[in-house]
Amino acid sequence: MFDSLSEKLGGILDRLTRRGALTEADVDAALREVRRALLEADVALDVARAFTDRVKKDAVGVTVMKSVTPGQLVVKIVHDELVKTLGSDSQTIDLNAAPPVAIMMVGLQGSGKTTTTAKIAKRLTTRQNKKVLMASLDVRRPAAMEQLAVLGRDAEIDTLPIVAGQLPPQIAKRAIEAARLGGYDVVLLDTAGRTTLDEEMMNEAAEVKRAADPHEVLLVADSLTGQDAVNLARAFDERVGLTGIVLTRVDGDGRGGAALSMRAVTNKPIKLIGVGEKLDALEEFDPSRIAGRILGMGDIVALVEKAAANIDAEKAMRAAEKMRKGQFDLADMREQLQQMQAMGGLGGLMGMMPGIAKMKNQIANAGLDESILKRQIAIIDSMTPQERRNPDILKASRKKRIAAGSGTSPEAINKLLKMHRGMADMMKAMGQGKRGPLAGLGQM
Ligand code: GDP
Repeated sequence: MFDSLSEKLGGILDRLTRRGALTEADVDAALREVRRALLEADVALDVARAFTDRVKKDAVGVTVMKSVTPGQLVVKIVHDELVKTLGSDSQTIDLNAAPPVAIMMVGLQGSGKTTTTAKIAKRLTTRQNKKVLMASLDVRRPAAMEQLAVLGRDAEIDTLPIVAGQLPPQIAKRAIEAARLGGYDVVLLDTAGRTTLDEEMMNEAAEVKRAADPHEVLLVADSLTGQDAVNLARAFDERVGLTGIVLTRVDGDGRGGAALSMRAVTNKPIKLIGVGEKLDALEEFDPSRIAGRILGMGDIVALVEKAAANIDAEKAMRAAEKMRKGQFDLADMREQLQQMQAMGGLGGLMGMMPGIAKMKNQIANAGLDESILKRQIAIIDSMTPQERRNPDILKASRKKRIAAGSGTSPEAINKLLKMHRGMADMMKAMGQGKRGPLAGLGQM
């Protein structure tokens, strides 16, 4: 999967990591090569250009770390941009609707649509314990209907009995009704494909969609067709409306152009990828795993992540020093809140710091979950720098303004101020002991 792209990017970045220092010209030269490699991989021009521009921007603004070479940092930045380009969050089929949930499959003939329909049915049956019904709507090709029936028998998935003479929207309605009566959780509608994108196919798909009102409309596209797959997705989305993409034949795709451009060009998530002919050869599309496969430099990425975490620890130590001296202001508190947020709430680093466990309890008791963290940060962001440094000046009118700015209420601001006083007092008290509250941190 994506072998040729992976090899090229690997070569370019490997050379960078071997250098001690990097000049801007070095980075520019490497990024030109990266862009060329992306274009050769059939990534859309705009996407490739935006990709290298963003890497360049991040590379200029990044904090230099002692324990990491500049080249390694660039690897990490390229990795993060790859994840972003691929779609950041992993999205899978959404079954969040009243059963039977209708999933409509569209795509060109030969793209792997029928096989993928059976793959999805099998996955939902075996992994999610769903009762699934499949129906073929390809009235012009009896062979296609028969193919789905055969796949269904092999995988022990029910298929809708074939009734001659019905039109696709009628079959769709019959399938949904049968699914409802039969107590099925999911009904998969395999629509007819053509060898090329034509008006008739689009019209038929649009009609089926109107008739069936599916919860998901998934385009099955052959990743080997590169930019054609992306253009196809765009056309289908405009005419029919898509909720997601399934890329097939990713097992044979050395280039990765379709996978890399799809999200940026169409703004539709790739939900699944086909990686072989067998019915279990279907995987979730996990952007960070795919980025890892493309770059193949997971150890460097991990190294940089660890170093960055250490920098956060240094920041925490500086904040602790301020706390100890009783200079813990709202800007410091914001940094703390943000760190908690970055660490997924109250776990991670903070939990490991001696003394912090106590604070952690206090915060947990106050019911400080993720959404509250976000709100607290929003409140602090709505203050002026002067207010952050000196909360005492926050009288009613200022509170009103801040509440409006952060979409909260003066009471929420009072709560935040109370918590700030609590934190500052506790830190000061702890700091009066022999060792600072975060003294153990240096050993991490
Ligand atoms: P349809 O005309 O779009 O319904 O396409 P089919 O489902 O009949 O698939 C066409 C061919 O592609 C079959 O031989 C499938 O086994 C094969 N195929 C489908 N998905 C994949 C995949 O992810 N990887 C590989 N290697 N072959 C696939």
